[in-house]
Amino acid sequence: MKNSIAKHWRRQVSAWVHALLCGIWWGPAAQAYSFNMIVPDVRQPAAISGGSACPVRAHQLTTAGSIAVQWSTVLNTNPVTILTQNQTPSGRLSEIEQTITQSLAVWTGVSGTLLLPRTLTPLTRTATQNPCGADGLNSICFDQMDMAFTPGVLAFTRVITADVTGIQIGGSAISTELGQVLDADIYFSPGDPNTTFATPQAFPASPKAYDLESVLTHELGHFLGFSHSAVWSAIMFPYAPAPGTISGTRPTTHQPDAPLADDDRTGLRVLYPDPADTLHQGTISGRIIPANPLALPAFPSGVTGVFGSQVVAVDNSTGAVIGATLGGWSCVAPGPAQFDGAYQIAGLPVGNNYTVYAEALNGAANPSQFNNALTLLCRNAMTDAGWPPLQACIVPSVDINFTTRTRPGP
Ligand SMILES: [Zn+2]
Repeated sequence: MKNSIAKHWRRQVSAWVHALLCGIWWGPAAQAYSFNMIVPDVRQPAAISGGSACPVRAHQLTTAGSIAVQWSTVLNTNPVTILTQNQTPSGRLSEIEQTITQSLAVWTGVSGTLLLPRTLTPLTRTATQNPCGADGLNSICFDQMDMAFTPGVLAFTRVITADVTGIQIGGSAISTELGQVLDADIYFSPGDPNTTFATPQAFPASPKAYDLESVLTHELGHFLGFSHSAVWSAIMFPYAPAPGTISGTRPTTHQPDAPLADDDRTGLRVLYPDPADTLHQGTISGRIIPANPLALPAFPSGVTGVFGSQVVAVDNSTGAVIGATLGGWSCVAPGPAQFDGAYQIAGLPVGNNYTVYAEALNGAANPSQFNNALTLLCRNAMTDAGWPPLQACIVPSVDINFTTRTRPGP
């Protein structure tokens, strides 16, 4: 039984890399939240796979106490990569722990979702140096080396997602939902002497350090199922804020989700919707298709719309980006995904007017930073032996060459 488990999850690595932007912006800002997707394993009985090859979103369960997180108290000491104001051994640990607690509270502080503070069990500590691994326990590691630490990677999150129900990994819960996250581990770079992270308390006196809270809040977004967003201000933007700067503003008691942008909040409401939330029930959907059908890729066949465009909803009264999505596909059971240019932006506040536009993912953020949201929409016999042909597909390459003209509204 154990051996068969390995093929039931896919490992998704999301890396957050150093900001290498030099303040020059070329082209309009591309904008969208996106999610880590997974196609259920339809080779397995329908009772556990659901029988549909339509992609589902990676997500945590939201019942009380369903998310447990431990963090390793083994910190890098040569050099110290986590800077704290309190230098005593116990003071350091409680300061770091406070930062972790606060970063989790940023996400549970968003209104209109079922991801509530009670979803989390109290944070626990482990004295193990390398607790991040495929063991079914969600861990945060500050001194664990990994092959994924290529140059420039500050931190990354490895997520293992169930593609059938009834499975578990190590000490995880047995999956009851497709797309359920079985294990999510957050790794901070321990090896680079030029990379340090500072807690909010130590941050003002550490101008060369990255903000631990900003980086951790971003990684927790991956932990919760997000891929990246191309919104500049979004916490899920693929590039970390430069040393000495933070994402958004610090959380407060009155506004725990302050570091997030509306795009992050909208994404979270789509991922963990609260049926009792009557405000964020707006959905805008449509298709992005080229004026010239010959502009569509010849391979794979069957592509009938623009794939991988950023479809953005802007609040007409404020001009603010409220939410956006990575468009280009739709799916009806039993699947597979159809690359028809379809998009759907959900979780929008009702009673407002929006302008919607599409743009190519060809700015600072590029398609490779959305791998988990784009390349995992299909499975086929090349990637999974014995995959049923009728439910197989091939993900087209992202269309980054189109331009759009917005038609005035009625
Ligand atoms: Zn990231």
